[in-house]
Amino acid sequence: MASSAPVEIPSSILIVGSGAFGLSTAWALCQNPQYKNTLITVVDRQPFPCPDCSSIDTSRIIRPDYAAAPYTRLATVAQQRWRTDFAPEHYYEVGLAVTAWGPEQRYVSESLANVNAIGADKTEVLNSAEDIKRACGLEGKDEWGSGSTGYVNWSSGWANAEGAMMWLRENLEKLKRVKFVTESVKKLLIDHKMNTVYGVRLSNSTELKADLTVLAAGAWTAALIDLRGICKATGQALCYMPISAEEEALLSRRPTILNLSHGLFMIPPANGLLKIARHGHGYLNPTTIPNPESEDPHDTITTSLPYTCVDDPSQVVPTEGQRQCRDFLTAIHPSLSTPSRPFTRSKICWYTDTRNGDFLISYHPKYKGLFVATGGSGHGFKFLPVIGESILECIEGRTPEDFKGRWEWPAERVPEELWKGDGSRGGPIGLVLKEEMAKSKGKL
Ligand SMILES: Cc1cc2nc3c(=O)[nH]c(=O)nc-3n(C[C@H](O)[C@H](O)[C@H](O)COP(=O)(O)OP(=O)(O)OC[C@H]3O[C@@H](n4cnc5c(N)ncnc54)[C@H](O)[C@@H]3O)c2cc1C
Repeated sequence: MASSAPVEIPSSILIVGSGAFGLSTAWALCQNPQYKNTLITVVDRQPFPCPDCSSIDTSRIIRPDYAAAPYTRLATVAQQRWRTDFAPEHYYEVGLAVTAWGPEQRYVSESLANVNAIGADKTEVLNSAEDIKRACGLEGKDEWGSGSTGYVNWSSGWANAEGAMMWLRENLEKLKRVKFVTESVKKLLIDHKMNTVYGVRLSNSTELKADLTVLAAGAWTAALIDLRGICKATGQALCYMPISAEEEALLSRRPTILNLSHGLFMIPPANGLLKIARHGHGYLNPTTIPNPESEDPHDTITTSLPYTCVDDPSQVVPTEGQRQCRDFLTAIHPSLSTPSRPFTRSKICWYTDTRNGDFLISYHPKYKGLFVATGGSGHGFKFLPVIGESILECIEGRTPEDFKGRWEWPAERVPEELWKGDGSRGGPIGLVLKEEMAKSKGKL
């Protein structure tokens, strides 16, 4: 199990990754007077805003709608910040319809119960495809698209993810407390005799040393420590279509629709772009790399890692994923889905999935000086205003009571085929990115 928190405040903290988890941690450190003498460094492999990280995109759903009550509680706290003092100009409270037609209906009803138990949100039960069509202003009544039952939470919303991340970064820079470095971390600096991490080696061979290294490298974290059986990168499909000002004016006031039975969802359009995406089991990308924890360069491991538009600027979503997004749009808004209106852009964005959808926010069980903050599991962004404070609590050995047993380093590694997930994922299982790319043709 994870080793205990250090008693003393570290004199230097190095955060690897400037996504939601890393940047929010830097923000929390800067807000906390205990760390006023701590040297804080954030290193990222890409200039900000990073083009392929999971925290940068047109939109992310902001919802307390969870089947697991602790996340409902924390998301409610985060949402209050989105509404008031945390990048409120990037937050749009237009509602979220969570629907299904299959076994995922269980997640929907547990989520509704949790939201209603908190009692702060305006919810409306949707008992039929007709109800969903009305609440979401859909044109089509195809149950495959809309779902057959669900509910709409009129107090949920979405955020311009890139806008909010820029807001946070600018506010952090104003404090002049954090040193930002743009360079890829190649390896952790590990003292194998002492089982201690004392910083990182960058691709340009520079060493950055620190009392505490916080790994918040999202889906790439598995390239820096061995996370087999704990976290894996899964690629998710996103497709974008240009939309007219009139269409945008109409659709932008309607709720997001998320059908958990296949995971397909549509977020209201903004800035002339409509986004259709899939919250699914995702594409795997098994990759063989030198074991990041081994001293022997011939020791290798195979683990799923991101492959993105940075690796291949011509990358598009495989035909299978584009077709599903297209079928969903045809089912809910057939007039938008005509052959003359192809998706003009698509991308694969990488979740850092854990076996049950819980985050991994924990000291490493073996290495002193190493803390891991990842495992966003496709739902971490909404916590941007608060996750850094929670990460800091865990660093200080004060894991929030209701996340004890959820966020800590798991007692054992579980083969990925046995992972149960959090019950929110639909769609095909076991897709391998390279195989789907090989089958793919043009744009849909
Ligand atoms: C398609 C998609 C849809 C999503 N929808 C939602 C949603 O609607 N609502 C929601 O709440 N959440 C959503 N999420 C999840 C949420 O976006 C993530 O949980 C969250 O952004 C994860 O943040 P992160 O900091 O862990 O990772 P990232 O944002 O990926 O940041 C990791 C950073 O580490 C850097 N890095 C990696 N390797 C290295 C290295 N070797 N050296 C230096 N730097 C490195 C990367 O460049 C990157 O900037 C979605 C995710 C995706 C992919």
